[in-house]
Amino acid sequence: MTRLTDLGVTDLRDGIAKGDFSAREVAENFINATNEAEKLNAFITLTPDHALKQAEEADKARASGQLKALSGVPLGIKDLFCTNGYRTTAASKIIGNFVPPYESTITEKLFAAGAGMIGKLNLDQFAMGSSNETSAFGNVISPWRQKNDDAALTPGGSSGGSAAAVAAKIIPAATGTDTGGSIRQPASFTGITGLKPTYGRCSRFGVIAFASSLDQAGPMARSVKDCAALLEVMAGFDPKDSTSADVMVPNWEKLLSSDIRGKKIGIPKEYRVDGMAPEIESLWQRGIQMMKEAGAEIVDVTLPHTRHALAAYYIIAPAEASSNLARYDGVRYGERQTPEGSNLADMYSATRAAGFGDEVKRRIMIGTYVLSAGFYDAYYIKAQKIRALIARDFEAAFDKCDLLLTPATPTAAFALGQKQDDPIAMYLNDVFTVPASLAGLPAMTVPVGLNDQGLPLGLQLIGKPLDEQSVLNAGLALEERAGFTSQPEKWW
Ligand code: GLN
Repeated sequence: MTRLTDLGVTDLRDGIAKGDFSAREVAENFINATNEAEKLNAFITLTPDHALKQAEEADKARASGQLKALSGVPLGIKDLFCTNGYRTTAASKIIGNFVPPYESTITEKLFAAGAGMIGKLNLDQFAMGSSNETSAFGNVISPWRQKNDDAALTPGGSSGGSAAAVAAKIIPAATGTDTGGSIRQPASFTGITGLKPTYGRCSRFGVIAFASSLDQAGPMARSVKDCAALLEVMAGFDPKDSTSADVMVPNWEKLLSSDIRGKKIGIPKEYRVDGMAPEIESLWQRGIQMMKEAGAEIVDVTLPHTRHALAAYYIIAPAEASSNLARYDGVRYGERQTPEGSNLADMYSATRAAGFGDEVKRRIMIGTYVLSAGFYDAYYIKAQKIRALIARDFEAAFDKCDLLLTPATPTAAFALGQKQDDPIAMYLNDVFTVPASLAGLPAMTVPVGLNDQGLPLGLQLIGKPLDEQSVLNAGLALEERAGFTSQPEKWW
């Protein structure tokens, strides 16, 4: 028998509309599932009252024939989105007790469309990380395990709580944010689908800033269709975000079609990097085959500056972070520390020393260094030039093709603790996701198969600016052909 928690966003929405079940039953089932999944540590704060209140509204709306786009659909919200009256921590100690007096635009839109909030999801602290090990609230544990091995695996990061909770079916879908891969990499590690829209599609208002020129919110869900339905609600122009794109939001879900005959799919040869696991190469080949079977034409393209993308990202992102995180000074925000006899400067440093985790401090130091007089030209300006060249590479490639198909990550999920002491090894995880971030392009990962150890592997589709539709359509073609239905075995 299908349980309600097996259903995704659009099935829940449609089932409520048909009267197959009530929104209240849906909310209660997912609330129970989250209560039974404490071992995964996917949530920082549970908010069942919000989900139940929205469910009640949805059931009333159904009775009066006024259902909205997401009436009665309970979601998990990454704890980087400010939620009015609900604690928002960015998984940090420094704002560990912050209760925002306002709502992020994304959550406002989701709630106005009838969605409920089950809870605030764990993440890497200030979204900095690729394994969810930098959270001040503890690691998220992936619901997946290798065959015959109980070692705890990372769900990826920074949206690790979102990925783990969706994969474990304790929520139907979640919001994520992606600065350099934080939606796509954890989605790939946990066998779910995650979409980073074009930069500017989703408002950043009320999303705690990491690197403002890169940060984008997006959906993480169990299917391409669910991502389309969620993004339709999340996207849209917002005057409160000066980088918001003033463009129409298409009916992505309605226009969804896996008919990609005649589409040109580019395969960038530079994504065949050193250290890529052979299983990833063969997965990529299978994906290429699936695209051919779907009637697409495969073309070889070149993105010559790819090898500099990671270095440029790890200069630009920390530079922006060092500026954005300056506001947590113990005066306007932050748990203030006032050591005996301290002056203002002592208070600042004591507050920041106690409130930020190691990775956040590392980023602030790198960022401050690359922006300092004397190093600005050598690092920051150079990185910006590389960023422009990377964007130009994509433009040139898109003269020859409509979309790009690449691996999502260089390996499957790794064990918690395995890369924690080696920041460079950790940063290398993002090698396939940061280029699209630097160029502001829409990109999605779709689960395509399992490796020999039984862990999920995903592929990435990258599209032209604002062409989420083509990304979604090709994603659907991949989803249909891959037929990925594997689920983690319940141990939690
Ligand atoms: N792993 C990358 C980083 O640590 C990306 C994080 C993100 O996209 N938020 O910067």
